[in-house]
Amino acid sequence: MLVYKFGGTSVGSVINMNHVKDIISTPEKKIIVLSAMSGTTNALVAISEAIAIGNSALARDQINTLNEHYNTAVYDLLHEKVLRKDVSDYVNAIFSQLNQVTTKTYNLQHHNRILAIGELLSTYMFSRFLEQEGFSVALLPALDFMRIDRNSEPDNFYIKQNLSRLIDGQQSADVYITQGFISLDADGVITNLKRGGSDYTATIIGAALEADEVQIWTDIDGFHNNDPRYVNDTTALSYLSYDEAAELAYFGAKILHPQTVMPVRRLDIPLRLKNTMAPDAHGTLITNQTHGEGIKAIAAKDGITAIKIKSVRMLLAHGFLKKVFEIFETYETAIDMITTSEIAVSLTIDHTSNLENIITELQKFAEVEVEDYMSIVCLVGNQIIYHPDTPELFQVLQDVTIRMIAYGGSNNNISLLVNTSDKLETLQKLQRYVFNGYSVLA
Ligand code: ADP
Ligand code: ASP
Ligand code: MG
Repeated sequence: MLVYKFGGTSVGSVINMNHVKDIISTPEKKIIVLSAMSGTTNALVAISEAIAIGNSALARDQINTLNEHYNTAVYDLLHEKVLRKDVSDYVNAIFSQLNQVTTKTYNLQHHNRILAIGELLSTYMFSRFLEQEGFSVALLPALDFMRIDRNSEPDNFYIKQNLSRLIDGQQSADVYITQGFISLDADGVITNLKRGGSDYTATIIGAALEADEVQIWTDIDGFHNNDPRYVNDTTALSYLSYDEAAELAYFGAKILHPQTVMPVRRLDIPLRLKNTMAPDAHGTLITNQTHGEGIKAIAAKDGITAIKIKSVRMLLAHGFLKKVFEIFETYETAIDMITTSEIAVSLTIDHTSNLENIITELQKFAEVEVEDYMSIVCLVGNQIIYHPDTPELFQVLQDVTIRMIAYGGSNNNISLLVNTSDKLETLQKLQRYVFNGYSVLA
């Protein structure tokens, strides 16, 4: 079995849906995971927010605009009359339900149900389109098998059991379609795998079925060595190891949801990134193999808060760090970077919902300084810390204020903490000097 995931742009227009149809026209059985059409989830977030603030007139306007957009797409995609009417009825029924929510008392469950609409629409439309094109296709509702537990981890046993059962019930199909992103929580209520979560759906499914390969089809020709949204002249990497890809995804490379790599790394299932609009390009193959040495790629993660904790009396005495970590543990807040000196420890977090409580607890035995609007710039490559070119980094970045450095935590990663306002300059300088051959001395 193969698992293919197509992202928002790949299913974002009738032309691209036709590209997808061509890509999946191979004889192997496959599961196709689809995102919402591009722009839809953002539009649904806006609708949900309008309802949340009680602006139902605005919400209804936005719903009508989105409904129109889908009516046009259905009309262009389906020419077979019965199928077109069926899909059109489905789309209109969904939007009419959404309109009804505008008059209800709003809660988080409404929000998650609204966000799920994008993937429900794209998968329904696309599966009926494949039917029109002569495919033997079965739609597997993600909410019948995808579930996360109380720690937001995939409930692998449940997923495997239920997904296998659904597939067994549809043996004659060649192509199975399902929704990315959406899931049930431990109480059986609709939730999602966070923004960009369809990538994660694909690898969770790949692991559950012990697939031969998981392919993520997107709008770029693979994993680039730097963030193409901020830096020119980035290039695609043909190969990455699971560890390298996981590190880059965790530290902000938008091409992969941060948790995508975990399920396939565990079972050594190849993960391939491909471009829907240029299917002949090699893309990136992610396996347990490492290729080359030195800095291979750079990513950046925004929204970081730095906390400096100064020991009032104990000068990092025995037990000080334990006390600090226990507080972060109690408030379920993950720490990304950490550095220590004799009198202080500095660390970063990206989840600030419990920050006030954390500060109050820390202030019982330490002085605390908080700085936000920071970014982590993460450099990744096999044996990066031993590479002779690595020390030059600090010359390249001599004009940038680096607030923290994590070097040697693993052999494959160096992380730098900078002000978000310095991120662009940092990424661009690193690109020019590290990858594009400029000399530091020039
Ligand atoms: P999809 O909708 O297919 O999931 P995304 O927008 O989530 O696509 O991810 C692809 C985008 O990720 C690219 O268009 C690119 O702008 C961005 N991106 C950020 N960092 C990288 C990187 N290192 N390599 C490739 N793309 C990246
Ligand atoms: N549609 C969801 C989002 O926009 C999930 C995804 O695209 O992967 O975040
Ligand atoms: Mg994505």
